[in-house]
Amino acid sequence: MPILVMKFGGTSVATPDRIRRAAKRVGREVANGFDVIVIVSAMAGETNRLVGYVEETGPFFDAREYDAVVSSGENVTAGLMALTLQEMDVPARSWQGWQVPLRTTDVHAAARIEEIPTDNILAKFGEGMRVAVVAGFQGIGPDGRITTLGRGGSDTTAVAFAAAFGAERCDIYTDVDGVYTTDPRISDKARKLDRIAFEEMLELASLGAKVLQTRSVELAMRYKVRLRVLSSFGEMDADAGTLVCDEEDIVESNVVAGVAYSRDEAKMTLISVADRPGIAAAIFGPLSEAGVNVDMIVQNISEEGRTDMTFSCPTNQVARAEQAMQKAKDDGQINYHDLVADTDVAKVSVVGIGMRSHAGVAAQMFEALSAENINIKVITTSEIKISVLIDRKYMELAVQALHDAFGLEKAA
Ligand code: ASP
Ligand code: MG
Repeated sequence: MPILVMKFGGTSVATPDRIRRAAKRVGREVANGFDVIVIVSAMAGETNRLVGYVEETGPFFDAREYDAVVSSGENVTAGLMALTLQEMDVPARSWQGWQVPLRTTDVHAAARIEEIPTDNILAKFGEGMRVAVVAGFQGIGPDGRITTLGRGGSDTTAVAFAAAFGAERCDIYTDVDGVYTTDPRISDKARKLDRIAFEEMLELASLGAKVLQTRSVELAMRYKVRLRVLSSFGEMDADAGTLVCDEEDIVESNVVAGVAYSRDEAKMTLISVADRPGIAAAIFGPLSEAGVNVDMIVQNISEEGRTDMTFSCPTNQVARAEQAMQKAKDDGQINYHDLVADTDVAKVSVVGIGMRSHAGVAAQMFEALSAENINIKVITTSEIKISVLIDRKYMELAVQALHDAFGLEKAA
């Protein structure tokens, strides 16, 4: 029988009643003829609560025990989902990560999936079991201990199962009804997309559209898993949600698919560093070692052998970046006059695969911002994305202006 993967996020399994509602959807797909692999998150808020307990034990906790604690939320929902399905006469069984066994790397709290053997679960399907309920977010490391995949990791569990089992589709049930052209809380003209390409979703996911864990989209793109994002609260409708799919499966699309933003950005400028071979390595090496996620980088025009280097990073990493630069300076690796941090900036980006074949998107973007008198501080571009750093107080305005400028409120 064809296999379907259905993943239910924390809000979709937040109470026994919601688990029952989710189970009904599963039952319907079983009736449609699918063997179903259900991936569950912990009940809403549960993982945060568990992380809080761990943090209370002290600042330098053992990541193996962190994983032992925070993975437990998923065990509860997996068992409850199996019980609820059984109660509805659907043959179901729960599986914790180690029972599959979902094998991962040894990086506790941020493990990567290495292997998902299918024989155990397929054998059970062969015996008449119709639903395998698997605890998301967790696996077993080479040391035989429980690992977790990083926050939001059940999305990745779901896509990895869909790839391993050659599933027909991977349905991600969440509390929003799909992927939008921008955040509906910022623009009331935001429109749900019927389809979006993997690459666009990847940009939007990593830009902070929190619908899917970035890693899950990377996996889906690599293994061409058809991914659907939909609400577990809406009607049970075959066309609901947004399909994240291959570029070729999108017939007609706008040049720009969406406008994303990231509120907590900081712009850091190293004033007057020596402009010499190796200077970028001497700056960004220590930043990376310090765990600073550098995003945009601009090297200014050089004068008399000195230049300014500007980069952006999340606001909460500014102190870490300052410390790393001070240390590099003290060690004599770099020499600069000053490090200036502007923590009142935000990043706004337009994303779309149509940009590859359309010129003028950047110009149109800058014009729209200029019409609102919004000053651009840093610009970066990639093949399918243009990002600008602006004053945070203009972020909402910029998102709305760009959404209008690219005509996103209308269907393509
Ligand atoms: N429960 C985990 C978290 O909250 C994993 C997930 O739900 O995706 O991060
Ligand atoms: Mg999630």
